[in-house]
Amino acid sequence: MNIGRLLTTAAQSRPTQWATVRGAQRQNYHQFNGRVNRLANGLVALGVNPGTNISILMTNGPQMLEAMFAGFKAGCGVVPINFRLHPEESAFIIAHSESRVVLTEAGFQDALTQVDALLGGVTHKIATGSTENGFLQYEAVLAEQSDHYDDVDVQSDDVAWLFYTSGTTGQPKGAMLTHQNLWGMTERFHQDILPHPSDREVVLHAAPLSHGSGLYALPNMANAATHVFLETSSFAPDEVLRILQDEAVTNLFAAPAMINRLLDCPQIAHTDTSSLEALVYGGAPMMVEDLKRAIDKFPKMVQIYGLGETPMTITSLSQEAHRLAGEPHLTRLASAGVARTGVDVAVVDSTGEALPAGKIGEVVTRSEVVTIGYWKDPAATANALKNGWLHTGDLGHFDEDGYLYLSDRSKDMIISGGENIYPREIEEVLTKHAAIREVAVIGVPDAEWGEAVKAIVVRQHDQDVSEQELIRFCQDHIASYKKPKTIEFVEELPKNNYGKILKRELRAPYWQKGTRQI
Ligand code: AMP
Repeated sequence: MNIGRLLTTAAQSRPTQWATVRGAQRQNYHQFNGRVNRLANGLVALGVNPGTNISILMTNGPQMLEAMFAGFKAGCGVVPINFRLHPEESAFIIAHSESRVVLTEAGFQDALTQVDALLGGVTHKIATGSTENGFLQYEAVLAEQSDHYDDVDVQSDDVAWLFYTSGTTGQPKGAMLTHQNLWGMTERFHQDILPHPSDREVVLHAAPLSHGSGLYALPNMANAATHVFLETSSFAPDEVLRILQDEAVTNLFAAPAMINRLLDCPQIAHTDTSSLEALVYGGAPMMVEDLKRAIDKFPKMVQIYGLGETPMTITSLSQEAHRLAGEPHLTRLASAGVARTGVDVAVVDSTGEALPAGKIGEVVTRSEVVTIGYWKDPAATANALKNGWLHTGDLGHFDEDGYLYLSDRSKDMIISGGENIYPREIEEVLTKHAAIREVAVIGVPDAEWGEAVKAIVVRQHDQDVSEQELIRFCQDHIASYKKPKTIEFVEELPKNNYGKILKRELRAPYWQKGTRQI
């Protein structure tokens, strides 16, 4: 099934339901599907065939969703690019994916023109807004085209989305997500995340459409949900809260850092969030202290653990698990929950043998949602996919009840004096200290122990605390060998465009090239 049919069906069954909302601009499903069909016809007129890859470099908005669905319907491999990337990084993805068409907006024309020589085999660049030389005007591509389009009949293992990894480790790789993968993700959203959708679902796209929010646009399309967009391209907590209330938003995907910003926003005290049926968070660890604070305001939280390579789908911590008081539920707030419906998850040692509960190893997963491999990268594919199992590069362990506790990315683990130390454990402890807003723990070279634990800390605005006090605080809560040897105070932690802390960047100044995999 062509994943683009989710929209076709929604438009057939619910033509008058609002499909997209941005500020005062609204279009219903009949209108939205008509525009998507006209764009699909426009792309075909430009020579786009099934199997052609097209890149989309746009800010979140109705037109980005249009472009994605036009690509799906036309049987293209769609390559959504995070608009915050450096132009050369975007150019790398456009050329590497062998995209023939780039859909963008007026504001990115200059940057793309500057890297024109790096764009590979692009034949057409299309921009919304007023266009410059070398760019076709988006509305002109739609003009004169029919609003009817027969969705291309694809095979289930045809590529629908080339998901370029966020690149916390080196050059981004393009995970090939098939129509079947995306359909599997959509079904599981309905099984595990929002099992009883209403007939008036409203999703707010506060996170990038090129990542989590774009993926969750699909199950929301299946529900003929109203897709609401922010009017600004950056995440402004007060705007998000206002829209949550005014549009009676029912579901939302957010990274933990976004939720923390909502909780810190003074307007939260006056915002009615009772329409929210699911606040889905994931993509990075959420510290337990932060989570407890969030549950108070957002009682319907669901955690998901997944990767672009198995979009949003490995484990989940249910809404119910967030609500239950006392033990073992309190401890389980530190977990990523249990295996998703129809998804195999195991923890294995370095030889691939499954480990028993309590033992830390690499998390592997197998399901119909797992990617078929990386675009033009057989070596990376062979490294990640072994006997049908995706090796995630995440370390973790199961408890006796099947709850998965993630420790860290394997590259972030610290080995000090022969002991494995998992930064997340120390980060969880330090976040309990009232003076700490954010923390990242890394390993730095140590002549005696090989590596030493270092904590890099952002303090709360109005709080002061010393290095010695924080080290003592750790000692009161965890084994002495795990306590940081040094603490550095900074104003801000480096993060990538999806809000993930860049530990590689924090480690780099301490390690000479080749001495540690940074
Ligand atoms: P990406 O492919 O960019 O979505 O990044 C996937 C990575 O994000 C995973 O391998 C994990 O390291 C991290 N991640 C995703 N979800 C969670 C979660 N719920 N808790 C902790 N880390 C997570």
